[in-house]
Amino acid sequence: MIPQDEFRKYGHEIVDWIADYLSEVEKYPVKSQVKPGEIKSSVSPEPPINGEPMETIMSDFREKIVPGITHWQHPSWFAYFSSNSSPVSILAEMLTAGLGVQGMIWDTSPSATELEEVVMNWLRDMIGLPDSFTGVIQDTASTATLCAMISAREKSSSFITNQKGFDRTYRVYTSTQTHSSIEKDVKIAGFGKENLIYIETDENYALKPELLEPAIIKDINHGHVPCCVVGTLGSTSSMAMDPIDKIADICSKYGIWFHIDAAFAGTAAIVPEFRSFMKGAEKADSFVFNPHKWMLTNFDCSAYFIKDSLQLQRSFAIMPEYLKTTADSQVNNYRDWGIQLGRRFRSLKLWFVIRRYGVDGIREMIRKHVNLTAKFVSWIENDPNIEITAPVNLTLVCFRLTKRGATEEELAVLNKSLMEMINATGQVYLTHTVLSGKFTLRLAIGRHNTEERHVRLAYDLIRQYSDELLNQQQ
Ligand code: PLP
Repeated sequence: MIPQDEFRKYGHEIVDWIADYLSEVEKYPVKSQVKPGEIKSSVSPEPPINGEPMETIMSDFREKIVPGITHWQHPSWFAYFSSNSSPVSILAEMLTAGLGVQGMIWDTSPSATELEEVVMNWLRDMIGLPDSFTGVIQDTASTATLCAMISAREKSSSFITNQKGFDRTYRVYTSTQTHSSIEKDVKIAGFGKENLIYIETDENYALKPELLEPAIIKDINHGHVPCCVVGTLGSTSSMAMDPIDKIADICSKYGIWFHIDAAFAGTAAIVPEFRSFMKGAEKADSFVFNPHKWMLTNFDCSAYFIKDSLQLQRSFAIMPEYLKTTADSQVNNYRDWGIQLGRRFRSLKLWFVIRRYGVDGIREMIRKHVNLTAKFVSWIENDPNIEITAPVNLTLVCFRLTKRGATEEELAVLNKSLMEMINATGQVYLTHTVLSGKFTLRLAIGRHNTEERHVRLAYDLIRQYSDELLNQQQ
């Protein structure tokens, strides 16, 4: 038998461990330094037949699991896009786990459903979307975009696809800088990869609207059905902003579903002076951003907004006898607002986070990150050996080390070495992309505990290893 007071004892111990972890996270290397297979070989390949003491499990956690953790909560995290947790969000997540609610329908926990309605209205207002949008929480932006594509598919086919499968070729359009999840969603939704049409971008890596309309007309002339356009606000490679106002007008002219993927950048719309990139968002059919990236809410929590929520529900509705309740006509049953039946009580952590930080607290953090980004740019922009490879939007800087007379291949090798040397120090973690054929480093600022000294350390390491690499090559 498991002792009754064990949960309380280890609950306290684990909260202490998390509190220490968060205050001392800088002592860990940001990127885990283990080799592939190292963690797997350190833990038992067989499940224990008899239960083990908590002491042993906790000790193995500290000794064997923590070394294989890449520390997303580290203030020198500059890789990909950040995934912010926060103490208050962790506490709410503990309550969610404690309650163990599965909120598939209103009856299975009215608080889970109704709090979701309330916080999604808060979020919608916070980012400046009009109240013609209704929100629902999805696990990730990938899933939210898949929901948008399926709703678009059903709208274009008048629900025939749900009944009979595809009757014609339906097309989806997006920019060449779109996130990889768009291709994945197109495949899962059954459009077929060949029906994802990539539109070229301009010198700012933003979709060229003047190429979108001819692509749509060409498809119509070939008997295809233009079904959905996915615009991006804050592309993953370079934080490019598509001209969504113009795209929205083209979509409305041809009756095409317009979905906006603002997975990372969407949080910046909470700050009035940064909101200009949202111009035209009110004309979209659906919009997603991830509080689990930049809004202090631990993974997973993706905010999906849709204009016609009935379209979403009709696309996903199922009505088995065992899920029918007397409340159905008066409530939202979120099982019909997305893919999964079972749903976690995610709104609780959003409610805790927004109440504890307040809208102004979140704004303050975003402004701090934008200011830190400007500082970093001011340090590198006058460096003759560093080239900024894309316009800097919000908090992402794309740059690379250059060397006179070097070919693109040589520069790619040089910059890959620079990135690996920096990451091997464990003091900073940054990642790369390729822009216009140029291997490019990305410094993405977005951790709530990042201060100027962390950004300065990143700059100093870039300088130090750039000098080393350039000297070696002379
Ligand atoms: N869209 C963009 C622009 C992103 O940057 C990302 C992830 O970084 C995603 C979508 C995918 O987000 P998720 O992991 O929530 O599916």
